[in-house]
Amino acid sequence: MHTQLSEEVFARFMALPQGEAYQAEYIWIGGTGQDLRCKTRTLNKKTNNPDDLPVWNFDGSSTGQAPGDDSEVLLKPQAIFPDPFRGGDNILVMCDCYKPDMTPIKGNTRLRCAEAMKKVESLVPWFGIEQEYTLFEADGVTPFGWPKGGFPGAQGPYYCSVGTENAFGRHIAEAHYRACLFAKINISGINGEVLPGQWEYQVGPSVGIESGDQMWVSRYILQRVCEAFGVIVSLDPKPIPGDWNGSGCHTNFSTEPMRKPGGFTIIIDALEKLRARHAEHIAAYGEGNERRLTGKHETASMDSFSYGVANRGASCRIPRAAEKDGCGYFEDRRPSSNMDPYVVTGMLIETCCL
Ligand code: ADP
Ligand code: MN
Ligand code: MN
Ligand code: MN
Ligand code: MN
Repeated sequence: MHTQLSEEVFARFMALPQGEAYQAEYIWIGGTGQDLRCKTRTLNKKTNNPDDLPVWNFDGSSTGQAPGDDSEVLLKPQAIFPDPFRGGDNILVMCDCYKPDMTPIKGNTRLRCAEAMKKVESLVPWFGIEQEYTLFEADGVTPFGWPKGGFPGAQGPYYCSVGTENAFGRHIAEAHYRACLFAKINISGINGEVLPGQWEYQVGPSVGIESGDQMWVSRYILQRVCEAFGVIVSLDPKPIPGDWNGSGCHTNFSTEPMRKPGGFTIIIDALEKLRARHAEHIAAYGEGNERRLTGKHETASMDSFSYGVANRGASCRIPRAAEKDGCGYFEDRRPSSNMDPYVVTGMLIETCCL
């Protein structure tokens, strides 16, 4: 544990007026493809257009994104959100990364996704992503709310729970929810999850590339909220081995033709296309997912592809309502909690629509 800094003293400084200067927090995906990095600069005018913001740079040799002898990586602003931490007119800026010649760096997954989304603009693709996460004490090993070195009672009472003995860390889920609303992220809900100390939030339906941008910024906000409470958040797909649920990132997907009368056949067509590329999708759906997709704990085994109406043991689920209405959406249950939403949404488009 480190020294607790005084929130009261901090609040005194944060209450000082900032004049006509605005703070822009540039955010990007780091070298592991899962970590987020950020740094701030002062701006002198307000804007809602990312193209009006300056391209910036960072030392890629410190994030595993460039060699030391040619270390500069460029940050291109792509999406702007109100900053729930600094408040006022300050902003969060989701960026992607380029080499000095403006070609994308190896880890830039946004560009390919944006290109795929551009091609299918007329289909108006919607994504609703269910982000599951698990909280840990600051020691990094004790799941939040669990007895030190021991185990809580078996799973059952924790999912969508209420009560001190069942719901661990609600402050974080609630604070994150409100912060996302402030940031104009299309957050659609939260719920307690099956594993004690595990929670879920949903972002969507969001259109095209906005889904990936909003998901990454929602994860940034989650980390900042947890930092404020001195709690650690894990997006590991199987944070606790054994008879405990893992964490997924179910991706609900539809196009306008799927949402219109007769859309059911287009949903089935998309699912058959996914069957044909199952192995490629699994390979891209998150690191360590093989520890989660065992066929137990509401997952389908990763070795084969399946789909079914209302079936939460299948790779993809068709909601009961979609069958009844003859249109709607489907849920790809395979992506893990640490998946890259640019990769997953882009691949769904490439496989199902291109
Ligand atoms: P589950 O029943 O699997 O727990 P959730 O309610 O947690 O599902 O999440 C469903 C997500 O799908 C929400 O974010 C919701 O906004 C989104 N969604 C709803 N309709 C559509 C649609 N037509 N296309 C894509 N996503 C959708
Ligand atoms: Mn859900
Ligand atoms: Mn869930
Ligand atoms: Mn779950
Ligand atoms: Mn789901």
